[in-house]
Amino acid sequence: MNYKDLRNLAEKVIERLEPIIEGMPIRLNRNFAKRTDRYTNGWNVQIGWVDGWDKCRFEIWLDDIPGWNKMQFQYCVSFREKNIMERFLEQINHENMFGRVASLFKDSDEEQSKLDKKNYGKPTLELNPNTAGGWFFYTINDLSKNVNDALVERIVGFYVAIGRALSENQKSVPKPDDTDVYSAKENRKQVVTHLRRERNPYLSLLRKQQDKYQCQICEMKFQDVYGEIGKDFAEAHHIVPLTQLDGPQTVSVDDLITVCANCHRMLHKLQGGAEDIDELKDMLLMRYEVR
Ligand SMILES: [Zn+2]
Ligand SMILES: [Zn+2]
Repeated sequence: MNYKDLRNLAEKVIERLEPIIEGMPIRLNRNFAKRTDRYTNGWNVQIGWVDGWDKCRFEIWLDDIPGWNKMQFQYCVSFREKNIMERFLEQINHENMFGRVASLFKDSDEEQSKLDKKNYGKPTLELNPNTAGGWFFYTINDLSKNVNDALVERIVGFYVAIGRALSENQKSVPKPDDTDVYSAKENRKQVVTHLRRERNPYLSLLRKQQDKYQCQICEMKFQDVYGEIGKDFAEAHHIVPLTQLDGPQTVSVDDLITVCANCHRMLHKLQGGAEDIDELKDMLLMRYEVR
């Protein structure tokens, strides 16, 4: 096999994807360029990317890695930074889609050459960190000996599953209940990002546990007021200003604060800036002083 086969495959995949991905956050790259890769002894082409997320590229590779006895195709999503990959995996919920990640390669194609045959066709994570960020891949190795319809369908299925998961993720927030979240804010994309981050199940739980479920604004604890049913109950608010929610970023537990439902609502009536928290605390203080 050679670059011509890769090119032929990429063109077929794009042609098949085109009518299916309508409405999905996927952009196709019909004018892909030939890229030679000296580490893998082969070529790769970028056939598309996740819309608005140019560091999340769809690539097909044809490699001749030392240790392999023939050239192999890989189809993948590539990332320039590890945290972008992590965010992507969280959004597509890959465990539901493809099951557990088959293997994790920390660097080196050599390791990859030892990929167990039973793990072909399943996503693996390939991590090649360097000082500039590095290259990270969510990739499927394929044993196909040539370009055929079945291979095309496997690749199409992979990207369509990702596209569906991403569009569902975008639709799932905001829910009807959230219509008043930053209602004055015109940039709804930022609002959606805000909500998604404070609903990150892992981080929000961690935050609330660390704060012992106490509102960091008015200091109320649901359990003190409501008894047993208020136990372990609170909400998490994402404190990074809305205007900074345009690109992919790492979210940490320090970006969240524990709040009660009332304070949370009130925070969302403010501007979504860094000063909101202090402003709301001041409002509360003033009110108590007046009484
Ligand atoms: Zn509160
Ligand atoms: Zn919030």
